[in-house]
Parts: sequence; C-alpha cells; structure tokens
Amino acid sequence: MITGQTRTLVILADPIAHVRTPQVLNPRLEAEGVDAVLVPLEVPPEALEAALRGLAGARNFAGAVITLPHKTAVPALCDALSDRAAAAQSVNVVRRRRDGSLYGDLLDGEGFVRGFEQTGVTLCGKRVFLAGAGGAASAIAFALAGRGVAALTIANRSAAKAGALIARLSARFPDVAFTAAADPAGHDIAINGTSLGLRPGDALPFDPDRLDPGTLVAEVIMQPATTALLRAATARGLTTHPGRHMLEGQLTELLRFLTHEEDEK
Ligand code: NDP
Repeated sequence: MITGQTRTLVILADPIAHVRTPQVLNPRLEAEGVDAVLVPLEVPPEALEAALRGLAGARNFAGAVITLPHKTAVPALCDALSDRAAAAQSVNVVRRRRDGSLYGDLLDGEGFVRGFEQTGVTLCGKRVFLAGAGGAASAIAFALAGRGVAALTIANRSAAKAGALIARLSARFPDVAFTAAADPAGHDIAINGTSLGLRPGDALPFDPDRLDPGTLVAEVIMQPATTALLRAATARGLTTHPGRHMLEGQLTELLRFLTHEEDEK
C-alpha cells in the first residue's frame, strides 16, 4: 500500500505510454518488501531540467529511471556521475542523495550484455554490428568493448555522432577494431540500438538481407515485443534476441541503485 512513508521513484520519458518498466519494477519492489513505488511521468525535452530539479527538492523522491529521449541530456543535469556514465555521456538512472544532489549512472550496457549472457551467448571475440549512437547504443558499445568483442561496427543516421562515439571508444579500448559503416554483412551479431521499430511504419535500422547466415539479431525495443526487424530476421531463418532481455538483465542492479545508498564509483 502507498502511504506517507513510501518513497517515490519515477520514470521520465516522452512518449511514456509504451514503457514497460512500471509493470516490471513495481511487482519486484513489492515482492522484495521495498516501500517504494515507480510512477510514469511524460516529460517533454524542454521541461526536463525543471522537472528533475523540482523532483530533487522533494525529500521522499528516491530516484528516476531515464529513457527516450532524455538519456544524453541528463548527464549535464546531475551533480555527479559514475565513470561509465561520464564515459558514455549518457544516464539511465538517477539517485537523489540525502543532500538533494543528483547522482547519475548508466546500467543499460551492463543490462544488455547480461541479458545476452543469461541466454548463454559469449561476446568475447565476436564481430558485432550496432545500429545507433544515442544513449542506449553508446552504453551497449562500451559494455560490448568491455566484454572483449573483436570488432564493433557502428552505423548511425548522424554520422558525426557515430564518429564521436568511436573516438571515445577507441581511446578506452585500443584492442578493439571500431569502424563506422552501414553494411551489417560479415558480423556474428547485429543489434538495433536505435528507436526505429517503436512506431508502426518505421524504416528498418539496417538491411536484414545483408546479414550472413547464422548472425544473431538483437533488439533494444521492448514494445512491440516483435519488431519488423525481428520478423524479417526470423523470416530469413536467423536467431533473434528480443529487447526485454536488456531490462531483465539490469533489474537487480536497478533496484539496488534506486533503493539503497551505495558507494559511488
Ligand atoms: P536516443 O534518443 O539517445 O537515440 C536514438 C537513436 O535512434 C539515435 O542513434 C538516433 O539517430 C536513432 N534514430 C532515431 N530516429 C531515427 C530515424 N528516423 N532514422 C534513423 N535513426 C534514428 O534514444 P535511446 O538510445 O535512449 O533509446 C533508443 C531505443 O532503445 C529506444 O527505443 C528505447 O526504448 C530503447 N531502450 C530499451 C531498453 C531496454 O531495456 N530494452 C533500455 C534503453 C533503451 P541520430 O543520432 O541520428 O538521431
């Protein structure tokens, strides 16, 4: 039951209707006996700073999950960032500290690779194609490089963003071969890290007909559960990995981050 002692968590997104985090996280909070509730808030980009600053003023505001389109705007609004959030310049979770300051971290990348590992896929040594260079894709790229993939090809609509991401990755992971290219041929794993597929009629993030036989096709999009990309991959006889694994892979860490005071890295 929600009482005056319940701590409030929010998820900030625009649009909000498609997010699945409240129906996944609230039952977990209840099952684990945590007196907190996660509430959806639809906040447009122009209201983001005021919304976050306003929330930080509330003493029982515990933290926020950040999603589309706010992840890359939130780092500048936090008082402190984890190393991985600073490196990717992207935040998907914010904790309010006791003094009202905001600490941002990025669990998406770790969630994505754990989601893979939970299904038995090994990433070390693989050649990976990643569409996107936004918040989710940047987090995934850093986590993949940290797992020792052999090569990572990045394709993004705004080429300059892909180039900047590759520059940051190369500085941190000199042993991984990073390339900017749009062709997904010649990879073991191909990932959609863009928001293409959320809306009916969206273009495909890359051409599935170019994929090698045996390529594993992965999504970040959770709703719809089967995107046009996953449908096209299945039609070609390829194995697919749906977006829900990325959230499932980070749930435990997300819960701990939002509801406990932790040492900050
Ligand atoms: P961002 O806004 O940070 O990035 C969006 C990305 O999509 C950019 O690479 C952008 O390219 C690309 N993009 C958007 N529209 C188009 C288009 N019309 N044509 C080509 N490329 C396009 O968003 P996030 O990274 O935060 O989120 C991306 C997706 O990941 C969302 O769908 C979100 O729901 C999902 N997600 C899923 C999670 C899970 O647990 N399963 C967790 C986190 C996110 P450009 O740079 O050129 O604008």
